[in-house]
Amino acid sequence: MPQSWYGALCPYCRFSTPLFETTLAEIIRNRQVATTGEPFLVFVCQRCTKCFPWNYDLRQVVGKFEALSRTDPVWISVIAKCEDGECEALTELIAIRPHGTTKQQILDERPTWNAKDIYCDNGHPIIIPL
Ligand SMILES: [Zn+2]
Ligand SMILES: [Zn+2]
Repeated sequence: MPQSWYGALCPYCRFSTPLFETTLAEIIRNRQVATTGEPFLVFVCQRCTKCFPWNYDLRQVVGKFEALSRTDPVWISVIAKCEDGECEALTELIAIRPHGTTKQQILDERPTWNAKDIYCDNGHPIIIPL
């Protein structure tokens, strides 16, 4: 059965990360942080490594592909704490990378990630864990 795919468009560099329907379902199913912030997911752009929120309720199908011919992208989710030590809000950052990337390679990218426009649910800046 053909599957849909979406594009998670980075507002900074306009790079569109391809996101398969199955990957999106997997990400939502495995969310580590309680569903606050829904329907937003915070992605780390593959090209400019800035973090941006993406509203999955507004996703638009870019195309369809045959499930058999696909090569699944790799994704990881990293939990960022709030800069305010008193605040317990956590923010989940999701990085999707091309098929063949290892999880360690994605984790090694973290020093380049930029979350300066991302805030916790209480409006504080967040810290990317290293
Ligand atoms: Zn970008
Ligand atoms: Zn906070």
